[in-house]
Amino acid sequence: MQEAKEFPKMRDIYGSLVFDQKAMKQRLPRDVYESLVGAIEGRQKLDSGIADTVALAMKDWAVSNGASHWAHWFHPLTELTAEKHTAFVMADENGFPLESFRGQDLMQSEPDASSFPSGGTRSTFEARGYSAWDPTSPAFIIKSPKGGTLCIPSVFLAYDGTPLDLKTYLLRSVEAVESRALKMLKLFGNRGVRYVRATVGGEQEFFLLDRPRAQKRTDIRFCGRTLLGSPPPKDQKMEDHYFGSIPTRVLAYMEDVQRDLARLGVGLATRHNEVARCQFEFAPNFAEANLACDQNQLIMETMRKMARQHELRLLFHEKPFMDMNGSGKHVNFSLQDSEGRNLLKPSSNQRKNIIFLSFLSSFVLGVAEYSGLLQASVSTPGNMYRLGGHEAPPSIISVYLGGAIDKIIREIEDGNCGSDMPAKNTVDLGLSKLPEIIAFDSDRNRTSPVAFTGNKFEFRAPGASQAIALPVTAIFSVWAAGLEKFISIFEERINKGEDAIEAALCTIREVSVMSRKIRFEGDAYSAEWHAEAERRGIVKAKTIPEGIDLFMEPKTLTMLEELGIFKKKEMESFYVIRMESFVKSIEIEMSVLRDMIWEGILPAISKQILLESSSFSSVCDCGLEGADAWKKHIAKLAKAKIDLMEKTKELVEMKERMSKLSLREHADALVNEAVPLMAEIRKIADSVEVYMSAENMAYPNYRSLLSLSA
Ligand code: ADP
Ligand code: MG
Repeated sequence: MQEAKEFPKMRDIYGSLVFDQKAMKQRLPRDVYESLVGAIEGRQKLDSGIADTVALAMKDWAVSNGASHWAHWFHPLTELTAEKHTAFVMADENGFPLESFRGQDLMQSEPDASSFPSGGTRSTFEARGYSAWDPTSPAFIIKSPKGGTLCIPSVFLAYDGTPLDLKTYLLRSVEAVESRALKMLKLFGNRGVRYVRATVGGEQEFFLLDRPRAQKRTDIRFCGRTLLGSPPPKDQKMEDHYFGSIPTRVLAYMEDVQRDLARLGVGLATRHNEVARCQFEFAPNFAEANLACDQNQLIMETMRKMARQHELRLLFHEKPFMDMNGSGKHVNFSLQDSEGRNLLKPSSNQRKNIIFLSFLSSFVLGVAEYSGLLQASVSTPGNMYRLGGHEAPPSIISVYLGGAIDKIIREIEDGNCGSDMPAKNTVDLGLSKLPEIIAFDSDRNRTSPVAFTGNKFEFRAPGASQAIALPVTAIFSVWAAGLEKFISIFEERINKGEDAIEAALCTIREVSVMSRKIRFEGDAYSAEWHAEAERRGIVKAKTIPEGIDLFMEPKTLTMLEELGIFKKKEMESFYVIRMESFVKSIEIEMSVLRDMIWEGILPAISKQILLESSSFSSVCDCGLEGADAWKKHIAKLAKAKIDLMEKTKELVEMKERMSKLSLREHADALVNEAVPLMAEIRKIADSVEVYMSAENMAYPNYRSLLSLSA
């Protein structure tokens, strides 16, 4: 009961720091409100004539909620967010304070773009970009200890119009899928539907460590993961942690995070322990795709800030610990029509189920054709260590539909497309019972990178530290492409006078045959699947740089250009940014590993040798049995030290040598030579870690790191 008194209730604070439709309605004249909401819902261009009125209302609302500054809030290609704060209060010509926030401030801002990555699209002399208000994602206030900032979600563009952010591409892909989905519904004769919305819910996995302990490790501080350290023995039953009770300290943190996010209108539906020790997950309520991507950024920012206040170290890295589960970000997605119907939700109505199967098979078709883009979107440095191991999906993209749907699709495939369509009869029974079957279809394949989970798809390969905007862009691009193709076949049949349902069944059949190779219902971890996937020709890339290359696959480029999502030139610079960021990230790991060995491990080994040899010399004259083993032990430590010195020297020289290579060669060389050498160094260091006395331990070990007691 004390809780209720001390802490505000979620429902009282929910959305209190968001300039949402409720706040708009309260503060805007009716015609302006309607014009703004119309622009947001219909995705139309905003009438600039109302900008001043909206800005004034927004400023008054923000100031009354404690904000002193405003900022355009955007996602540069670094995957983080950026903002430049400007005060509301300025001095007028007489030096008197004046509150100001004009329509043009709201609509457009000019942060200096020169320090954001652009992949060579701009030279420094033209290093100017501008951010422009994205009214489809509501403005919000980020509180700070002494005030707050009104954040205006924005896109970020160079002066020639080249996007310098992820949001622009995201918005284009969302528009591409929504317009095609609407067209599909219209072809089915659904006249009442006004629009379709893409929906997304990104589950976020993370690790929490005791901050003072974690910060003693240079690797965690600079790379967000451990480069050294041997995993605790298996017999400690780490799996007990999953769905067990959340440690009190973590729960307090989660509650604070949830409360702050609730104020920002972000609802976290579930929270629980994850598989590995100290690993947890938050799942938000799903939202419209663009908003969901913004919200995922807010979730990550809020979590980072709050972790510091709780003396915790938060890790979003995909693979913080060797031989333990990594962290992903499952991206759930679907489409919803203007009546609020989920287009991937099976129903007990046969006709609706054929519409449902049309959307589903369009997506599968898109994946079959352009799986390379999905893989490229998750080809990040952190995923190099995660994908394919410890419950993470493999990097080979395949789609899992689940027993019930798979069976129906197969039946449709086996049918004939004639005037009396036998397929229709064979699937009759299955279709009308679909929701029941799926509800009982407890078969949840966790090994698949893309899975249908009852009423939505789930893309499980994205890494926990990634901004979801890129994987979401990839998802909706391939879906739009699949819909495009589906619609062209479907429309032709309708134009020939076929009944829509019959035409749809035939089209489902046709596209399912085309996309058969990408569907896989079995264990995607198994060696047989890898061999089978090779046979099917769906293995696209074996390394992260090869995965990044997939952005430039000619057919993907053509598709993206045709759908108006990426121009070839835009993709070329985007590609360079992704490859550069891969190279930089591995280079940082190389330097940090070298430093940790020389600053910590080598001196620690010397101390240990000294301890052993001085105590040994005080007893060795006594003709002690087994003294040889002791001597050997000391020699082993010395040998490890010598090896580490040699290997780290090699690492430094390697880094220097590789820096002269071209970007693409550099990336390959890192994968083929640097990563194996780092693994070798780690192995040597880890082999002596277990022989270090507590006081000679250079860094907190896994056991100490993975314990949350303060
Ligand atoms: P699961 O058990 O499959 O993980 P949950 O119901 O826990 O399913 O949902 C997981 C995530 O999927 C949540 O973040 C949720 O908001 C999101 N989600 C659910 N339905 C949809 C949908 N129609 N579109 C997008 N995301 C969704
Ligand atoms: Mg899930």
